[in-house]
Amino acid sequence: RVLDLRDPSLLTGKAYVGGEWIEAPDGRTIPVTDPVDGALIMEVPDLGPETARRAIDAAEAAQKAWAKRPVKERSQILRRWYELILANVDDLALILTTEQGKPLAEARGEIVSNAAYLEWFAEEAKRIDGDVIPGARPDQRIVVLKQPVGVCAAITPWNFPNGMITRKVGPALAAGCTMVLKPAAQTPLSAFALAVLAERAGVPKGAFSVITGEARPIGEEFCRNPKVAKITFTGSTGVGRWLMREAGDGIKRLSLELGGNAPFIVFDDADLDAAVEGAIISKYRNAGQTCVCANRIYVQETVVEAFTEKLVAKARALKLGRGTEDGVAMGPLIDERAVAKMEEHVADALAKGGRLVLGGQRSDLGGTFFEPTVMTGITQEMRVAKEETFAPLAPIIAFRDEEEVIAMANDTEFGLASYFYARDMARVWRVAEALESGMVGVNTGLLANEMAPFGGVKQSGMGREGSKYGIEGFLELKYVCLGGL
Ligand code: ADP
Repeated sequence: RVLDLRDPSLLTGKAYVGGEWIEAPDGRTIPVTDPVDGALIMEVPDLGPETARRAIDAAEAAQKAWAKRPVKERSQILRRWYELILANVDDLALILTTEQGKPLAEARGEIVSNAAYLEWFAEEAKRIDGDVIPGARPDQRIVVLKQPVGVCAAITPWNFPNGMITRKVGPALAAGCTMVLKPAAQTPLSAFALAVLAERAGVPKGAFSVITGEARPIGEEFCRNPKVAKITFTGSTGVGRWLMREAGDGIKRLSLELGGNAPFIVFDDADLDAAVEGAIISKYRNAGQTCVCANRIYVQETVVEAFTEKLVAKARALKLGRGTEDGVAMGPLIDERAVAKMEEHVADALAKGGRLVLGGQRSDLGGTFFEPTVMTGITQEMRVAKEETFAPLAPIIAFRDEEEVIAMANDTEFGLASYFYARDMARVWRVAEALESGMVGVNTGLLANEMAPFGGVKQSGMGREGSKYGIEGFLELKYVCLGGL
């Protein structure tokens, strides 16, 4: 597949290790394909743990000097990277859409809103303030320094091929850490393109490397290599659990952004049209393939019919197609495995008494296109209520009252995002405080931005990305006791 890029040098099939663009030593490659039709876009290197080690060595060699650079310089380099991303957003979006499938406008939105994490952390780099605390004795003072944790390893998923990277590398580099990244095998081209721009922005050799290859051996190297101080991961809860175990021996710092099972609650005092709008964005954005997508839609009995009718009308109007075509609102699912899970969840719900009111099957477009789907008569016993569907299925569950819906919403091991629509102020506070999740959207279906702490509780992970809190995971506290004063 030939991409019509303004700057063709942004599209590369080479990995970036220690400031060099490399192929696999044995020449092995992995194909990257377009999810629309499976066409080959490009081959990328199939690298093993030895190359991961090389990248880690380079990151270690670069780290001390990077941390010693005047903070203003680190800040300016990040800022320059941010500006280069904005200047090249059309090309980056085309690369993203081609390897991932989301509509071009969504790809652009992902890139711009997540490049903002580079801008934000370029600013935060200057505010890594320590503390001076009165001493326990009159001749002592307690000084608290914040220092970079050191070499970091990042593993990112395919659903936000660009955005998941900038929100991790931004705070790491700002803090004075260096980073080795392994992007998802489905979407490495966006990662390489970001590395091209990082190099142009002046990120020094070794401070940021990007390697592709089989996930597990590289993951093991990240977890076992004593030079890696911290691992930051976004992906499934299963892999997060595995990383936590593997990294346990080395007591590595971990940030984990894992799966969600977001409840989306509509109370009877809500603005129904706004709630439908929010549900459409939260559910069908990226064809339902985001960890903060509404997974269970709870609607109060008295308004469930009206809400369903409006939701179906809007969902039906979503146009499926290739992400580069005009007016397309939903692309294909990433692969057959994703379609299989969607089909299993629909079949399970049907077998247990659920009803299809829209979609429920693959689209005529073929491939991995799946129709926007709405189901009613859903109960807590169905798989759609327990597992993350990660696909365009809106399961509607009717509820009686606030107490019941909070119990249902919290009845999950996940705790990433929650959403609810209500207008009564007392209810807004009560429900926001009662929901067991790291993030709560009240009267909005979109939460993430660089100024807010993104992250989960329970088995949805640990650590936060974005905001003043987002840099803390890349810093260690050092207490210096000044005595003899
Ligand atoms: P998904 O099922 O949505 O692809 P994963 O958690 O499997 O989610 O993938 C997220 C990222 O984790 C990807 O970069 C993938 O390559 C990587 N990954 C998958 N398995 C492992 C593993 N055993 N060790 C390290 N990384 C892994």
